[in-house]
Amino acid sequence: MDKLIHGIAAEGTIRLMAAITTETVAESIRRHETSPTASAALGRTLTGNLLLGSSLKDYDRLTVKIESEGPIGAIVTESTPEGTVRGYVRNPLAEAPQKDDGKFDVSGIVGDGTFYVIRESGYQMGLHRDPYVGSVPLVSGEIAEDFAYYLAKSEQIPSAVLLGVLLQNSEPYVSAAGGILIQMMPGANEHLITMIEDTLNQAPHLTSVINDDAKPVDLLKLALGEIPFDVLEESEIGFKCNCSMERAISLVSSLGAKEVRSMLDEDKGAVMDCGFCSENYTIDKSGLQEILGKMN
Ligand code: ZN
Repeated sequence: MDKLIHGIAAEGTIRLMAAITTETVAESIRRHETSPTASAALGRTLTGNLLLGSSLKDYDRLTVKIESEGPIGAIVTESTPEGTVRGYVRNPLAEAPQKDDGKFDVSGIVGDGTFYVIRESGYQMGLHRDPYVGSVPLVSGEIAEDFAYYLAKSEQIPSAVLLGVLLQNSEPYVSAAGGILIQMMPGANEHLITMIEDTLNQAPHLTSVINDDAKPVDLLKLALGEIPFDVLEESEIGFKCNCSMERAISLVSSLGAKEVRSMLDEDKGAVMDCGFCSENYTIDKSGLQEILGKMN
């Protein structure tokens, strides 16, 4: 199971979050069969969503969505406070040649666009509150920088964000994934901020450290160098979709009797793909008849 930790430094003026998401990202890209560069884009966004979500309180569902003008089209991820996440990209086969340094050219398939954060709360208790929606233009298309820009611009929290996905040629295709989110709260010492920035600039690649079996706490050590910190909490995170046959049936029922009858007569059944996890749900003739029977 993947893990996420919370910590603080400098009397709580610096908030720290780190996550290893190797299994979570592997499961997502296995389901969507994304190209290598699209896998990196999706994996970074899933990881960023989990980190951002863990820094927040009071929400039921956190959506981070990138509407892109590039070949990938869109990246959509959703997480819950329980640490589960799911997501997809609009064009899973979008691809670009690797950069000269061997890194994926994520910005090459994302390009310009808009970064959205949507926070919904209350609906699990039957309250219908308007969701909180924040958005900023994409500044880099490399995802981590876009999370940092969003936090600085929209939430007024200066932040450092590192997100990484390392792929391999054989299953499960992801050898390492993870990320760090560091938030400077009001009163954070400027000198410490500069120290962290310098440390991060000289740190080895996040994914190579994760590939060497690092734990989330090791990622924080990597980011903070000499600065002492306390770990407050560790939690499990992972891929999870909330689709089900039951939901597929209620979706078909909601289309109304006329539509269900035409599915029965013309298609002899209904097949639905969940966009978030690529799971298939097939309702055969007798299933549709049963749905119709309950409507009358
Ligand atoms: Zn699903």
